[in-house]
Amino acid sequence: MSAPNDPYDPKEVAALSTDELAAAQRAALAAFEAATDLDQLAAAHSAHLGNKAPVALARRELGALPPQARADAGRRVNEVLTALTASYEAARTGLEAARDERVLIEEAVDVTLPWDMTPPGGRHPLTLVQERTSDVFVAMGWEVAEGPEVEAEWLNFDALNIPRSHSAREAQDTLWLDPPDGGVLLRTHTSPVQLRALLARGAPCYVVVPGRVYRQEALDATHSPVFHQLEGLAVDEGLTMADLRGTLDLFAESMFGAGVRTRLRPDHYPFTEPSADVDLLCWVCHGSSTEPGAEFCRTCRSEGWIEWGGSGMVHPVVLQSAGVDPDRYTGYAFGIGMERTLMSRHDLADIRDLVEGDVRVTTALGREA
Ligand SMILES: [Zn+2]
Repeated sequence: MSAPNDPYDPKEVAALSTDELAAAQRAALAAFEAATDLDQLAAAHSAHLGNKAPVALARRELGALPPQARADAGRRVNEVLTALTASYEAARTGLEAARDERVLIEEAVDVTLPWDMTPPGGRHPLTLVQERTSDVFVAMGWEVAEGPEVEAEWLNFDALNIPRSHSAREAQDTLWLDPPDGGVLLRTHTSPVQLRALLARGAPCYVVVPGRVYRQEALDATHSPVFHQLEGLAVDEGLTMADLRGTLDLFAESMFGAGVRTRLRPDHYPFTEPSADVDLLCWVCHGSSTEPGAEFCRTCRSEGWIEWGGSGMVHPVVLQSAGVDPDRYTGYAFGIGMERTLMSRHDLADIRDLVEGDVRVTTALGREA
């Protein structure tokens, strides 16, 4: 039933009647309240506040009213519109908050969930220790040099003052490429890079050479046919054994901690004169396990020192091979086994742990290499 909307208007405008407006308002409020998500609310908005909604139609009817009736009807329509808009906004705010809360829960990352992914790969500890050792020397202004693993016999042996009769050249030690008398081999040490560096750079020259070398050996607990060396070479005017010692001590401290120094024992190598073996003060007991009554040290077997590598003053013949004047320049060189360094650091007894690719070993060592 609709009542006359205005005493001055003979025409009844149904859309503007109080009852119709109240009904439209109830329907709209019910629809906004019933919406359980933002899509449903948008549909309700279009139906009850859109262009074709009853309230919109009522509003359009206002223009047809005589001025006296328009103000009153307009006020009523506006009241309904205001109420509906407020109700819609309240519903929207509530649903948006609910959606945000749901997204936070559904898309949250639970860091306490069990971890079942394949662990990411890591670099091999030998690679890491080579980089670390190289860094020590780069920090002193040295350069990192590289050379080929397939090498000329002349650079691997002759130019390094290793005579033809030397046992190292024999087939049981060296891997020769076909034909066996072709003068090409897999380098047995990183020392040929000394010559390559000197030939390329001339003197003065400060290079460190990390690299892979090859020997004719079967793989067992202490031998591998492929292993890694770190070679160092310094050639300049006035260098002496004292410079060699200082460099080795600094290197040892950088790798094994403060107070770990080196000692030199006389030996013989064809490419250095004089030559010396390099021992490392045990970085676990610092030599104290040699005292009477002291506890046994596994790392150095209570000897206080650990064999580390070889060293010496570069032989004048080697300098001459590289076109460097031995009357003006002197140099020192040293070579350290990387596997031995790593095995010492981690108390490994078997070199095969480093080459067989067991990720548990390499990951554990890689973390602290
Ligand atoms: Zn010790």
